[in-house]
Amino acid sequence: MAADTEKEVQAVLFQEWVLALRDRAGDSRSDRWRVVRPNMDKERCTDCGVCIEACPMATICADGTVIRIRYEGCIGCGICAVNCRIHAIQMEPSPDWRH
Ligand code: SF4
Ligand code: SF4
Repeated sequence: MAADTEKEVQAVLFQEWVLALRDRAGDSRSDRWRVVRPNMDKERCTDCGVCIEACPMATICADGTVIRIRYEGCIGCGICAVNCRIHAIQMEPSPDWRH
């Protein structure tokens, strides 16, 4: 399988997994089961908006010209972090998660 095709297949599989995760959540109480969540470094962030487009849950929004994450609906998938080319988003343990 060509590298590009393999990457595309992986991207589709990942997207399907994320959508399944979203369906399983059933509601916006992702804090009950989310293990990690994104932490945005505002010193690095250029407010380009790429992560807004990438987030499957639409939980990243523009507050005026400033980009921010609304954690209420975040499923911790990490797609925002992967799509930020300057690595301004790091995934970290979710403080809400109960073991
Ligand atoms: S993709 Fe990265 S740099 Fe762009 S708005 Fe999101 S966190 Fe900021
Ligand atoms: S981890 Fe990022 S992309 Fe995934 S739901 Fe949360 S804010 Fe959106």
